[in-house]
Amino acid sequence: MVDRTLSVAVAGAGIAGLSAALAFARCGFKVAVLERAAVLEEVGAGLQLSANALRALRAIGIDQADLRGAVPAETVTLRRARDNRRLARVDVKADDGTGYVSIHRADLQAALLTAVLTQPAITLELGTEIAGLRSGGGDQVTLALQQAESMSERPYGLVVAADGVRSRVAEALKLEPPHYSGSVAWRTMLDRAAGAPPFAPGITGWLGRSVNIVTYPVSGGERLNLVAVVREPQTTDFSSRDHAGRMPLMTRLHGATPVLTEMITRSGPVTRWPLMMVPGDRVWGNAEGRIILIGDAAHAMLPHAAQGAAMAIEDAVVAASAYAQAPDLAAAARRYAAERRPRIDRARRRAIFNGAVYHLPFPLSLGRDTVLSLRDSRSLGRDLAWLYEWQPPELRID
Ligand SMILES: Cc1cc2nc3c(=O)[nH]c(=O)nc-3n(C[C@H](O)[C@H](O)[C@H](O)COP(=O)(O)OP(=O)(O)OC[C@H]3O[C@@H](n4cnc5c(N)ncnc54)[C@H](O)[C@@H]3O)c2cc1C
Repeated sequence: MVDRTLSVAVAGAGIAGLSAALAFARCGFKVAVLERAAVLEEVGAGLQLSANALRALRAIGIDQADLRGAVPAETVTLRRARDNRRLARVDVKADDGTGYVSIHRADLQAALLTAVLTQPAITLELGTEIAGLRSGGGDQVTLALQQAESMSERPYGLVVAADGVRSRVAEALKLEPPHYSGSVAWRTMLDRAAGAPPFAPGITGWLGRSVNIVTYPVSGGERLNLVAVVREPQTTDFSSRDHAGRMPLMTRLHGATPVLTEMITRSGPVTRWPLMMVPGDRVWGNAEGRIILIGDAAHAMLPHAAQGAAMAIEDAVVAASAYAQAPDLAAAARRYAAERRPRIDRARRRAIFNGAVYHLPFPLSLGRDTVLSLRDSRSLGRDLAWLYEWQPPELRID
């Protein structure tokens, strides 16, 4: 049995890191969360959380009622970007009645943070950047930490790397770096109070040539999140930008229904996110099981299945359960990887498949539209049962 007095460091206080801290604490471990940001600001935009994500959150003590501003949905509507024609509805509610919500990332992070701050087994150290690590195969991993101007070293028994797609831990382990996916996400918000046009109800995806647009309500329906994923293989600008401007997005949506262009005209600031992917064969830690990677650090994928955060929360729960039950650290890491790898691979493939189908050019798009129009919402929903019906392991102190 893995020693519960093991000191656990979680690198990063994003969705993966905060979830991991809660999951390991629930299994009786003491956890230090090390986050380079000095304050946890409202970063990111909207997220959809499917039933598998909501069950994983429940396993770490967060119920749907704790998710302030979450807006429930029963279906996702697919439309044609050119003329707004409705192509299909997809049922997203799970068989056991677990819901599906859209939420601002900041509201999810706030729910996780509230739970973390009330858990005595967790300490949160902001303004603490992991600058490097040493792991000589012994019984500790030494982290080099930068706090303001000072550097220090600290040993930990286990390091859970939840430090995102540009993971410093992955870099220190000399793992192959992430690569540009060929697509850019353009994101913006519409504010109901600012006289936005009537919101498209619920979650809607518009399919167009080399572009798809998704809108859904967040902040209790007071704001509408809009993300356009655009194929831009020729881009040379791989940096994320906070103020990308509405005009470049408008240009990319040329020929789209006025419903969409009107929304962009009335939207707030537009941000630009080149989408990076982690190589599918990345190793998720070291052989001794003293370092494991979770969330985007392990497997950043395209957002077309809306599963990156969901997979991060699931990872956290499965990893904690593995470390709580396996006979030793190496066995725990193997159990974690064995359980997660097939599911992550399938989610990643599904995201790539969705992207290819959403972005089909004419006349292939005609075939897609016909097939979608002929299928009912329930049968389209059944295609995703393997994803949404997932059940988390129970977390407990044995
Ligand atoms: C356009 C778009 C739409 C999406 N839509 C959805 C969706 O609908 N549903 C869904 O489930 N997912 C969605 N995702 C994916 C989801 O946003 C990510 O998968 C998820 O947020 C990853 O969380 P993370 O905690 O692994 O990484 P991050 O959120 O990147 O967190 C990493 C944390 O580590 C910290 N950090 C980094 N380096 C260091 C260091 N050296 N030392 C200390 N701290 C460090 C960072 O400051 C940060 O706080 C979407 C993504 C995009 C781009």
